[in-house]
Amino acid sequence: MFDVKPADRLAALPPYLFAEIDRKKERRRAKGLEIIDLGVGDPDLPTPAPILDRLAEAAADSRLHRYPPSAGLTAFREAVAAWYLRRYGVTLDPETEVTNLIGSKEGIGHVPLALVNPGEEVWIPDPGYPVYLSGTIFAGGAPRFMPLRHDLGFLPDLEALEPNGFDRARLIYVNYPNNPTGAVAPRSFYERLIQLARRHRVLVVADAAYAELADSPQPSILEIDGAREVAIEIGSFSKTFNMTGWRVGWAVGNAAAIRALVSLKSNLDSGCFGAVQMAAIRGFDLIDEHLPGLKRTYAERRQVAVAGLRELGLEVFPPGGTFYVWARVPGDLRSVEFCARVLDSSGVVTTPGVGFGRNGEGYFRLALCSEVAAVKKAMALLAEAGLWAARSGS
Ligand SMILES: *Cc1c(COP(=O)(O)O)cnc(C)c1O
Repeated sequence: MFDVKPADRLAALPPYLFAEIDRKKERRRAKGLEIIDLGVGDPDLPTPAPILDRLAEAAADSRLHRYPPSAGLTAFREAVAAWYLRRYGVTLDPETEVTNLIGSKEGIGHVPLALVNPGEEVWIPDPGYPVYLSGTIFAGGAPRFMPLRHDLGFLPDLEALEPNGFDRARLIYVNYPNNPTGAVAPRSFYERLIQLARRHRVLVVADAAYAELADSPQPSILEIDGAREVAIEIGSFSKTFNMTGWRVGWAVGNAAAIRALVSLKSNLDSGCFGAVQMAAIRGFDLIDEHLPGLKRTYAERRQVAVAGLRELGLEVFPPGGTFYVWARVPGDLRSVEFCARVLDSSGVVTTPGVGFGRNGEGYFRLALCSEVAAVKKAMALLAEAGLWAARSGS
């Protein structure tokens, strides 16, 4: 008889901050009160039908019922390489510079385990996707947080890297189009980042989960001269093709980093179901038909949310893409308290900025994975709730 306790590395993760909001949500649901959930970034629209058809066909192919190669099926790696050539003009060797992932989160979380030694520094955007920190903690790495500043368009201040000891960094994460802020990064940002990373021999991990969900086409970090010496990019079918439940993505770029990641994966998992890989790459063939409508849908929702919040007098950061809207908490409430009040008074679920890191405090995020009518209704409910009395310190 003994108490089973989680390992210290789990205890080292940041505390879960949303228990109170979850309870409120449950209580509302139990009472049958309306909830509009703008909390979770998980596409509401279905996966395109041709991908489903391809899955059905591939699922019947018994050759795909066996273990796939750790790095992914050859057809998968070739399709990702062909996509990079077509989309970015970047040539990748499918044998050495591409691997399949079981969703990009898997790769993002495993990269430090494959490439960072205990005690080595990992530079992490704050606010940011929480997996950069969890992966770092699990690998015993030392997290260093880079503030994403509103006045710099939520880009890290690259000119502050060297003065802050970037020569000690082993790995740096960046993520544009950005979750949670909706910010995008210009090519010049990647150019300077690659220059610094080469100078200090730091591996850059660019999380490109929203690469296709920007108003204007965004560059890949791998377009930059010298990038493949120091960078990998992580991509996903999840947001582009409404496939979050399928668990399929990729990592591309620096061959030594890809090799290390594949070697780690071959010891932990046995890859993503081959039929899922075959179905996912069907997406690249349909992207020209599929994407414009999807982008219009999100742009319309964002427009409604941005205008609605602004009408209420809130300061909203203009998103350049994604399905997120990032806004300042009015008055001097903590973001958790603010989102709890919003939920109580309107039934609208939002995410407190502090959940994405200390520098997210003072902000909240809307995830627009509900139809535009629901987003409109949410804005009306917020207006009715008259909640900005919060401002006068109630
Ligand atoms: C959604 C998301 C991902 C993960 O997507 P997968 O479903 O694991 O491919 C990665 N990075 C960011 C910033 C995300 O928001």
